[in-house]
Amino acid sequence: MLLEAKGKAFILAGGTDLLVRSKSDDFEADIIVDIKSIEGFGTVRETAEGFSIGAAVPCADLGTHAALKAAWPGVVEAANLIGSDQIQSRCTMAGNLCNASPAADSVPALVAAGAQAVIAGPDGSRAVPVEDVPVGPGRTSLTKGEIIEAITLDARPAHSGDAYLRFIPRTEMDIAVVGAAVNLTMDASGTVQSARVALGAVAPTVVLVEAAAQAIIGTKLEDAALEKLAEACSAACRPIDDKRGTVQFR
Ligand SMILES: Cc1cc2nc3c(=O)[nH]c(=O)nc-3n(C[C@H](O)[C@H](O)[C@H](O)COP(=O)(O)OP(=O)(O)OC[C@H]3O[C@@H](n4cnc5c(N)ncnc54)[C@H](O)[C@@H]3O)c2cc1C
Repeated sequence: MLLEAKGKAFILAGGTDLLVRSKSDDFEADIIVDIKSIEGFGTVRETAEGFSIGAAVPCADLGTHAALKAAWPGVVEAANLIGSDQIQSRCTMAGNLCNASPAADSVPALVAAGAQAVIAGPDGSRAVPVEDVPVGPGRTSLTKGEIIEAITLDARPAHSGDAYLRFIPRTEMDIAVVGAAVNLTMDASGTVQSARVALGAVAPTVVLVEAAAQAIIGTKLEDAALEKLAEACSAACRPIDDKRGTVQFR
């Protein structure tokens, strides 16, 4: 259906972005395809490799999935920051990713986690790192007829953790001025073995800051290492001025 659409074709997951957008005067759609009833799209599967989160799983369900929450607390905490309980009962991480807002909350956490998007299309299925999906504000790399069917997260080694924090001017229901996600694995002595650091709302797409990860790998997160991490993050930012904050503030 998506492939055969003559005009604009949209996928409807939770609709918390799409329905808002559909109220604007310039919104036109030839077809809107609701994916919530497609078999398998609404479930979180735990596999030998990790987790497969169906594209229509509402973010609220992630917070009640004990195994997912234990393995990837930062991804779940990011998804559970989106909007309010009402929004989370509808919205999805795949929708957050495909809406391609630079300030999307779950995306830095997914990027830091090394998550993959499983994309189904006319030529079959392919998996890509989530950071390759948004290519600019409101734009994705998906081609006509393609749809994200699931987001996958690997099983984790021992001594691993992840977290997501955002700064917003209000206490909730606001868009991130800056979002930051970190995913770490340490050895038994507390030395960082591997790390991924991702920033949101400071560039047209989420920034994976390799230099920030390198600043803490091999350390026990001493103050000097954290200062280097902060410097690497500041250097990687390419923010804009807007009503939520200036370039300097960001
Ligand atoms: C009151 C309110 C508060 C909000 N607060 C936040 C917030 O704090 N943080 C935040 O990040 N966002 C926030 N949002 C935005 C929105 O809730 C999120 O971006 C949400 O994750 C979108 O998911 P959805 O399933 O509702 O997407 P939808 O609206 O269904 O879709 C969004 C876009 O992605 C496309 N799409 C959806 N699913 C797929 C798929 N599987 N494959 C390909 N394309 C797809 C759609 O066609 C559409 O273009 C808020 C929105 C509202 C209305």
